[in-house]
Amino acid sequence: MRLESFAQWLALAEERQVPLWRIVLEYEMHQKGRSEAEIWARLAQVLAVMRDAVQTGLTEPRQTPSGLVRDSGKKLAQAPFHILSPQFTRLLAYAMAAKETNACMGRVVAAPTAGASGILPGIYTFLAEEHQVPERTLYECMLIGAGVALIIEQKASIAGAVGGCQAETGTAAAMGAAGLVYAFGGTPAQIGEAVALTIMNMLGLICDPVAGLVELPCVKRNGSAVVIAAAAAQMALAGDTAVIPVDELIVAMGEVGAAMDPRFKETGMGGTAATPTAQAIARRLWTDPAALRYEDPPE
Ligand code: SF4
Repeated sequence: MRLESFAQWLALAEERQVPLWRIVLEYEMHQKGRSEAEIWARLAQVLAVMRDAVQTGLTEPRQTPSGLVRDSGKKLAQAPFHILSPQFTRLLAYAMAAKETNACMGRVVAAPTAGASGILPGIYTFLAEEHQVPERTLYECMLIGAGVALIIEQKASIAGAVGGCQAETGTAAAMGAAGLVYAFGGTPAQIGEAVALTIMNMLGLICDPVAGLVELPCVKRNGSAVVIAAAAAQMALAGDTAVIPVDELIVAMGEVGAAMDPRFKETGMGGTAATPTAQAIARRLWTDPAALRYEDPPE
């Protein structure tokens, strides 16, 4: 069995009268030759690593030698005021903290890639801490997210070097949006709409890491991606739709990625990476890494 499209996934679940996660669970059992108990145990391990990445990012210094990562998660967690709500700020903080753990060579889950490794930990931590979503439901969210990634991987890409940042943070946000809808009791169709709305809103995002380091804009994009995921899930749960079917948007994502100029595919030669400041940082890093450390401006 292969998961080839949302339409097929939803039809299969409907025909068998099982939840979407059950189809992915059986796929995993079949592909990996593992028992159901082994898959659940593995999901528990993965979630523990994700949680740890968030906690480490919130409690330990997260600064890279390049100076491009400097405790964004902690700054958000200690924000003196909230434009929307404390919860909104914490969602940002969780995602950015986990991604910073990756930038600082800490242990993360590459879901789907290291560059986007803060988004799902941010969303799952948010669901557990802010909405008391049970552990077992989070595992089911993870399976649904895996199903989303399986389809995108086949029809588009999950790699920035192939499809731009839409393929990395866009896919992670789509996986997270699906989990958010599921956790709040949304229907399979609403899960598909949340994925469609996420992709629609991240289509075309380029991959442009400064100096070729997966730090900037990567940490900031993990923050913005959870916001888009939450917005898409909120729209879907309210009954709004993307109008364009999710499977068509995934194909569009693949086409956009294929048409992208190589400068925008992890080469560090376009977009943010091509700005004069980024170019100067890259030159300094390549000639004198220590000189890249910069100090906060005076208070
Ligand atoms: S900018 Fe590139 S390296 Fe950074 S998260 Fe996006 S796809 Fe990954």
